[in-house]
Amino acid sequence: MKTTGYAAQTKGAPLTPWSFERRELRAGDVAMEVLYCGVCHSDLHQVRDDWGGSIFPMVPGHEIIGRVTAVAPGVTRFKVGDAVAVGCMVDSCQHCRPCRLGEEQYCTEGMTATYNGRDRVTDEPTQGGYSKHLVVRQEFVLSVPDGLDLSRAAPLLCAGITTYSPLRTWGVGPGSRVGVIGLGGLGHMAVKLAAALGAHVTVISRSPTKTADALALGADEVLISTDADAVAKAASRFDLIIDTVPVDHPVGDYLPLLDLDGSLVLVGQIGPIGQPSSVPLVMGRRRLAGSLIGGIAQTQELLDFCARKGVLPDVEIIPIDRINEAWERMERADVRYRFVIDMASLPAAG
Ligand code: NAP
Ligand code: ZN
Repeated sequence: MKTTGYAAQTKGAPLTPWSFERRELRAGDVAMEVLYCGVCHSDLHQVRDDWGGSIFPMVPGHEIIGRVTAVAPGVTRFKVGDAVAVGCMVDSCQHCRPCRLGEEQYCTEGMTATYNGRDRVTDEPTQGGYSKHLVVRQEFVLSVPDGLDLSRAAPLLCAGITTYSPLRTWGVGPGSRVGVIGLGGLGHMAVKLAAALGAHVTVISRSPTKTADALALGADEVLISTDADAVAKAASRFDLIIDTVPVDHPVGDYLPLLDLDGSLVLVGQIGPIGQPSSVPLVMGRRRLAGSLIGGIAQTQELLDFCARKGVLPDVEIIPIDRINEAWERMERADVRYRFVIDMASLPAAG
């Protein structure tokens, strides 16, 4: 099927309109029209090839809300007209231990990324949600519960699940003391979700100008990371810190903020993290960990949780021809707090 989208033709290139082919439906596939797609900092990283191995042309986008337009034989869970969602992955081996545990993102054969990956059957590059149409096997399609505002739900599919998953893994609930480093797309969802789970939440930000927003999003306190006195006073105060900073940074500076048995979970930077000393780890039985998105079952749990609790991302909806400007603003940490592309602004294939 011919479709259109916005693609980077080469490494670091601006996004421009592009026509390309979506695969014909295979048994078990769901076809959808994309209604909304969130804009993740990972989109920028991958177009710049920050993680190596990027494939071009590349249509980014892995926070996708759509409506089913066709289903192939074998599809039992969806019908034409259903509101559906797709996140960061579209396939995995389905039989390794992580897959059997419902943690497909850690598939030992490698999960298939929604874009900048390769189809497990044809080896063709996958293309993401900055486009009009998408075809995905039903196991990787989520149901959007009634009552979840479609125009705001897209960021749950990456920013939401990436922060919800460690909150659940580390058992956050009433009484938990949670710190969130970096108030961007992931950070603002971490604040909302931790607060909805009943935790005491502190935003740890470089940006004093975000203080009022942080409190409005549900944080109880704000710690400005450049205020050395305030940081020193916050020693041993947290059970869990979620670090969303998208670049190399001195993670070791934050470890003393953890209480005994506390954990700092990296979800932002994928690469070097300065040269943290083991002293605060050894001397306080503290833990340094990482986490990648979340499994399909947990993503559905998150969507249902957000519908039930009325938790929704704060979004700025843009037409697709403003995407390059949105990326520039994201790079300057000027996002309040997630851009979402209204795909109705993208003309259909001519
Ligand atoms: P974002 O919206 O750009 O937010 C990042 C925030 O980090 C900024 O708003 C800023 O907050 C802070 N920040 C930015 N540059 C910084 C710097 N040089 N030093 C310290 N803090 C800085 O990005 P995002 O979409 O939330 O994504 C964050 C990172 O998570 C990206 O690297 C992305 O690739 C990664 N990611 C990982 C996963 C996963 O599965 N682990 C999933 C999705 C995304 P303040 O102004 O408050 O300081
Ligand atoms: Zn993402």
